[in-house]
Amino acid sequence: MALIVQKYGGTSVGSVERITAVAERVQRWVTLGHQVVVVLSAMSGETDRLLGLAKQIQPRPEPRELDVLLSTGEQVTIALLSMALAARECPARSYTGAQVQILTDSAHNKARIRDIDGARVQADLDAGRVVVIAGFQGIDEHGDITTLGRGGSDTSAVAIAAALKADECQIYTDVDGVYTTDPRVEPRARKLDRITFEEMLEMASLGSKVLQIRSVEFAGKYQVPLRVLSSFIDGEGTLITFEDESVEDAKIAGIAFSRDEAKLTVLGVPDQPGVAHQILGPIAAANIEVDMIIQNVGAQEATTDFTFTVHRNDYARALEILDAMAHTLGARQVLGDAKIVKISLVGVGMRSHAGIASQMFGCLAKEGINIRMISTSEIKISVVIDEKYLELGVRTLHEAFGLAAD
Ligand code: ASP
Ligand code: MG
Repeated sequence: MALIVQKYGGTSVGSVERITAVAERVQRWVTLGHQVVVVLSAMSGETDRLLGLAKQIQPRPEPRELDVLLSTGEQVTIALLSMALAARECPARSYTGAQVQILTDSAHNKARIRDIDGARVQADLDAGRVVVIAGFQGIDEHGDITTLGRGGSDTSAVAIAAALKADECQIYTDVDGVYTTDPRVEPRARKLDRITFEEMLEMASLGSKVLQIRSVEFAGKYQVPLRVLSSFIDGEGTLITFEDESVEDAKIAGIAFSRDEAKLTVLGVPDQPGVAHQILGPIAAANIEVDMIIQNVGAQEATTDFTFTVHRNDYARALEILDAMAHTLGARQVLGDAKIVKISLVGVGMRSHAGIASQMFGCLAKEGINIRMISTSEIKISVVIDEKYLELGVRTLHEAFGLAAD
């Protein structure tokens, strides 16, 4: 008998029929003698719908109120699944994040989980019930509802699995595993049977939408065995392993990309100590995450150009902040570009292979794709290019690095 945490994403619970199918699958595991905790997303499209309603009222809704609103989507699906299980004579109980006591910090809309009280859940399991928990939400120390950021129910599932010391955390989604790249962009993308935890972490942080990054971080921290599988097709999915060897003996495990990028440049700032801090301090204070940073030597002496990237959602605010400080900084001009994307090659095999970067740059050059920014780490190389070249860039690299299915 094992304790399994299963998380079902929005498309898997997108209709009553699909919720019924999930109930069938859960019941199968119960019949095999396992204890099952289910973590759910809202029905597909529901969180966006709610967000749309809020934005009709206020372009930037109050984060606390937004959490009260957005958390309702998951409350619908947990209740419906519990009913579907009960209808199949499979005893189940649903819980919101607050009921379980998924304690988070108070950073509304991007809260972090601090602690989970597994006692109540464990008691239900021991009494032979399936426990169905709302993903994506928690409660802070003041009793306010929080949400964990888009895609956050993956993180809920992994955190719950860690708290309960589950034997496996299964993430059921609309794809049957982790692919070498997004099959919607490259139809020849191949499913990976295994991927190392480190690679998965990079893929997620670089734009792969299969798992929310925090869920992977959590899995790493608490060594939660994680598997990504389809709720529509039976199969083994992709196992995230904790070995650090490249499992597939390839240089590159996959290609991640992100359309959520924007870049900002401050031109002609004085080239002196403290300037980078002066620029990024207010950006950080506004809770805006900065990704790549490049500081160039400017054409004019004693000045420099400073470029960095942020999430596209933060672009307008970042630009506002820079515009407001440009004068004090003594900057010549502030420029922004929100029509860029980032493509990254990821693989632990990269460590032992030289020349991956030059091969990558060569491929892009052959297609006439101009590289605007570059950043590297031990197991990844990222480039920023114009948005219009995304598909071409991904497909070219996928082919060049031999990732395609045979
Ligand atoms: N319903 C939330 C979202 O759409 C959380 C999730 O699906 O993981 O982002
Ligand atoms: Mg999701």
